[in-house]
Amino acid sequence: MAQKIGVYIDTGYGIGEALDVEALSQVAVKEYKVAVCRAEPYWSDPEKLAIIRNDIATEELTAVIIAGPSRRVFEKEFRFDGIITERVNLREHVVWCQPPNNEDTQMLAEDYLRMGIVKTQKYDDRAPFSEATEKAILVIGGGVTGLHAALGAANAGYQVYLVEKEAELGGWARKYPKVFTGKPPYDELVASQVGEKIAAVQASDRVKVFTGSQVYEIAGAPGMFDVIIRPNGPWVEEANKKANDWRAEQLARAARFAGEKQEAAAEKEEEVGAWGVGERPEPDYEHTRVAVGAIVVAAGWRPEDASKFEHLGFGKYPDVITSVQMEELAAKGKITRPSDGAAVQSIAFIDCTGKDNEKPNFLYHSYVTSLVALKQAHYLRQSNPDGRAYIFYENMRTPGQYEKYYQTMQDDPGVFLSKGGVLGVSNGGRQLAVEVKDTLLAERLKVSVDLVVLGVGMVPVTQDSAVVNLRYRQGPFLPVNPQGFNDSHFICFPYETQRTGIYTAGCVKQPMDFYQSGTDGLGAALKAIQCAELTAQGKAVHPRAGDQSYPELFITRCTQCKRCTDECPFGMYDEKPDGTPMPNPTRCRRCGICMGSCPERIISFRDHSVDMIGSMIKSIEVPDEYSEKPRVVVFICENDAYPAIDMAGINRMHYSPFVRFVPLRCLGNINLIWIADSLSKGIDGVMLIGCKYGDDYQCHFVKGSELAGVRMSKITETLQRLVLEPERIEVHQLGIDEYAQVPVLIDKFLETLSGFDPNPYKGF
Ligand code: SF4
Ligand code: SF4
Repeated sequence: MAQKIGVYIDTGYGIGEALDVEALSQVAVKEYKVAVCRAEPYWSDPEKLAIIRNDIATEELTAVIIAGPSRRVFEKEFRFDGIITERVNLREHVVWCQPPNNEDTQMLAEDYLRMGIVKTQKYDDRAPFSEATEKAILVIGGGVTGLHAALGAANAGYQVYLVEKEAELGGWARKYPKVFTGKPPYDELVASQVGEKIAAVQASDRVKVFTGSQVYEIAGAPGMFDVIIRPNGPWVEEANKKANDWRAEQLARAARFAGEKQEAAAEKEEEVGAWGVGERPEPDYEHTRVAVGAIVVAAGWRPEDASKFEHLGFGKYPDVITSVQMEELAAKGKITRPSDGAAVQSIAFIDCTGKDNEKPNFLYHSYVTSLVALKQAHYLRQSNPDGRAYIFYENMRTPGQYEKYYQTMQDDPGVFLSKGGVLGVSNGGRQLAVEVKDTLLAERLKVSVDLVVLGVGMVPVTQDSAVVNLRYRQGPFLPVNPQGFNDSHFICFPYETQRTGIYTAGCVKQPMDFYQSGTDGLGAALKAIQCAELTAQGKAVHPRAGDQSYPELFITRCTQCKRCTDECPFGMYDEKPDGTPMPNPTRCRRCGICMGSCPERIISFRDHSVDMIGSMIKSIEVPDEYSEKPRVVVFICENDAYPAIDMAGINRMHYSPFVRFVPLRCLGNINLIWIADSLSKGIDGVMLIGCKYGDDYQCHFVKGSELAGVRMSKITETLQRLVLEPERIEVHQLGIDEYAQVPVLIDKFLETLSGFDPNPYKGF
């Protein structure tokens, strides 16, 4: 349907003084014949919004364009029910970064208005995705985290299914004699309160508990997950083995084809069977099937395998134990030596094996391992006032108020704390000899103790157990980051995983103590509720929360190349046996990466499509080659680059007026056709600015920015065809706080381009 558009130019914020507003209005009225065009200051004011609403009613507008401040502000004010709203940034991207009353500034503003109008004209009226959805919440794991999540969701009025693999609820907290209070004065240990939580869960008529059971399989998508819960049995080991074997094969395949072109690798896809493809067999075993809207994974941690610490005496001397075994000893009331049952007088707590030691060091160390060493030293001192505890550590981490507890233990004359790397543990006669180097007291030190406790790390169970057993094309596991955790953006969205609607909490996410685990469980429950509710309204979750668009495929033109299936970071596409993608719209985060990956260009959103962006580029007016006014298209990610550019404007940083920003949902949207469109239109250079990638990635869609870099490495062919220099394209990564780099990157690129002739395609 053709859109009936109203354009509202904001003349406030210095826009009216810096631009020829009449000339700008003529672009909308004469070139595009919009139904309404008004220029006034401060359209976000209530009385001005009333004018817009009146125009919508009387002129039957279907779309409104606000040309003024950045779209990052007044988002709520400029929301009109059922009406398309587009924003043109004349403030931060034009008048606040360019000289006023200048021909180039005016041209910049006019181009942005053209791009905004053309984009709006291309909006499609597709209805939001809508299907009946479930709002119940599945919680996997009945420890402290899971109990808090289950109670939080139940208290908010949601049906909860709680699955715990052990015969009883409570997890590690049930086994530990004492925990920290988490309350002032932070110097006490108290009995765990987990019993109260268990009782509350058992008393709730909204929580259905499955103990001695695990999740056999999860199919479906947010709002419509279909979960099979099955009592423990040999199937658990078989399922984990099958899942781990499949993952190992995938990793091996990825390593084999590293560096090969994606198409070549895709052709060899059959070497590893796709997961979750084909009919789902009806269960012929004892099970319960539940339908849920969202899932909290609170499956917890397991202690790091201590057998690798042979050099520290583990497995060799019975009196070398792990911190988990120490809890079991302490739970008996009196701390005695495993070897002979004698009362323990001294313990060495080892939290570091020494940095340059070639022997294995502890993994997944955190503030929790530091606190546990302090707590267990406290156990000894409480059970034996003459006892001596030595704690050797690389980093003593006691965040927040735990510092007070650390001070309490420092003040205890029976506790010796020292930085130092433990070189080894040997037989010292009746006792064990612990050799430590680089301590605060001496270069080398040897202490004799009755017991050695190894501060083993907390390994998230999702590392080697499928836990969720997803029936997704992309495999049964929740994907992990390089550190082995399941996040999708640990800074901005701490509960999110790369599988939409599935949230992690507690120690599957990062090592945390019981106190933090409880609040984390509650937080994840709220995220799960948010997901169930937004999904029911046909809306996306973070980071494009509320977005009602979703990708649609013109499937008759699909070549089954599987790029969309492979590249979607969130596993949205399942697959038919013939390789045709099967979308699950509620799994989608609306990043548009699949849109950029599809060589057939058959994936589009109602408000974001290959054609729409291509038309915006084509609407840019390119001066002829004699004008000395080059043009550069800059594709910017809306998550970090866009706000950074806004910040540059807010700080009145000036840069070349010859650039035209084209915001993308993610740089992973980039489709090579847009580069070709730009260059064949006479645009002199193309720049891409996305989020940082690598280990500490900042990309809100996990790998979109990185994928854009990969796609650009394939641009050579296009440039060769057009006989253009490769330097006409640059790709950059920019953090949201690096706004000072914006003028530097842009002006440097313009300087590079000044070394070349103008693009010979100008005027075509
Ligand atoms: S838009 Fe993003 S999340 Fe949605 S299907 Fe495409 S790649 Fe996946
Ligand atoms: S939709 Fe596009 S990317 Fe996906 S399989 Fe089909 S052709 Fe390939």
